[in-house]
Amino acid sequence: MTFEYAPAPESRAIVDIKPKYGHFIDGEFLPGKKHFATINPATEEVLSQISLGGLSDVDKAVAAAQKAYTKTWSKLSGKERGKYLYRIARILQERAREFAVLETLDNGKPIRETRDIDIPLVAAHFFYHAGWADKLDYAGLGKSPQPHGVAGQIIPWNFPLLMLAWKVAPALATGNTVVLKPAETTSLTALLFAEVCQQAELPDGVVNIVTGDGSTGAAIVNHPGIHKIAFTGSTEVGKKIARAIAGTNKKATLELGGKGANIVFDDAPLDETVEGIVNGIFFNQGHVCCAGSRLILQEGIADELIEKLKVRMAKIRVGDPLDKNTDLGAINSREQLSKIQELASAGDAEGAERWSPACDLSAKGFWFAPTIFTGVTQAHRIAREEIFGPVLSILSFRTPQEAIEKANNTPFGLSAGVWSEKGSRILWATQQLRAGVVWANTFNKFDPASPFGGYKESGWGREGGKHGLASYLKEGK
Ligand code: ADP
Repeated sequence: MTFEYAPAPESRAIVDIKPKYGHFIDGEFLPGKKHFATINPATEEVLSQISLGGLSDVDKAVAAAQKAYTKTWSKLSGKERGKYLYRIARILQERAREFAVLETLDNGKPIRETRDIDIPLVAAHFFYHAGWADKLDYAGLGKSPQPHGVAGQIIPWNFPLLMLAWKVAPALATGNTVVLKPAETTSLTALLFAEVCQQAELPDGVVNIVTGDGSTGAAIVNHPGIHKIAFTGSTEVGKKIARAIAGTNKKATLELGGKGANIVFDDAPLDETVEGIVNGIFFNQGHVCCAGSRLILQEGIADELIEKLKVRMAKIRVGDPLDKNTDLGAINSREQLSKIQELASAGDAEGAERWSPACDLSAKGFWFAPTIFTGVTQAHRIAREEIFGPVLSILSFRTPQEAIEKANNTPFGLSAGVWSEKGSRILWATQQLRAGVVWANTFNKFDPASPFGGYKESGWGREGGKHGLASYLKEGK
């Protein structure tokens, strides 16, 4: 039986988008010189004009952060810093609906996800780190661990406000000040967050937000007044950053790409596993660095599981991100859509078999139907390269050892999943998987207390939990 869903659109009346934005420096919005448009990827409607930050804007922001660090923020006790973080967390909760609608408009992800996942996790990150601010002596880093100074933070477009929270909350809790650059296609929630900093009466210059593109990011990375860099984005840019800071004293955490393996053993509960697979690759349009984008199935159950997966995929609702029934929203940009299309075509050309359910995709905006490829081999590009879209590559295995070898046969090492009813098998597999996060009988679960990060080309260092704090602190005595 198929259910029909009437449209259930969330109102956008709650958000007030200005026609043009400047940078947020030293507690106020300063007009930018050059601008570029930010659009709604579901409709291609221009939402606003964003400032393209140059060297002088970055200079001003770093100077403000430096001044705030020496004059105010490093002088406050942990307890006082914690109060600001709690205040920000509460305001974020109060304004959650506004943030969810704005994020959905600017990013294209479904309101169901911004409302139920992104924004609640953002508030959770501030609450969690607020709790740490006066307990840093107990973080395992010796007595009175000290902040680095000014943190330069560069974030991607797939979880705009959540990546801001992952970076700003630990920086402030540990006593650092911040210059942050959002991604070019998704600056709006970071700019609304700047208003939250004003509302929380955070001292001027503690958080500075400079919008712009890769050149603005590079200006932050190369600025001599920056002491620590936190970056989330592509492996390609991560390598550029690593090269740029080699030989300097700058500390860095880099959270980069992934090609997560989701291994299903033949004793796994198949219906639950199908839900986990769908969540692993179709959550957030597959714009997830830790997505379970390689499904590795034990041969005995492969055909049955693929059939079940197809039935489930036919029920995924693709469409208006502001509709509360939507499961899969718009691809974030035309550029990203082209990358996904190019890699999917490579899958066809290399001999894998493509399947998607029937989908009515809008002619306006950027869309890609949920897609699986079967008959994928390890040599195929779609098994090796990060697609960063709703595309799943399916491989198979006979012995458990073969599953592990296939899973680890990647330059990345961010995430993996194991599905089995046997605890001993799960423990055996998780110990051998070279991935920063391994989920067992679930996928894509996040918590501020849990460290997140990668092996190999997936990055350096960890964010979240006690491990994440360490990267913002110098060891005490
Ligand atoms: P994605 O593939 O997710 O778009 P990118 O790595 O291109 O990821 O971008 C992530 C962030 O890095 C964005 O905010 C982008 O503007 C910024 N960025 C791009 N190039 C550079 C660079 N050379 N130095 C610093 N930041 C950069």
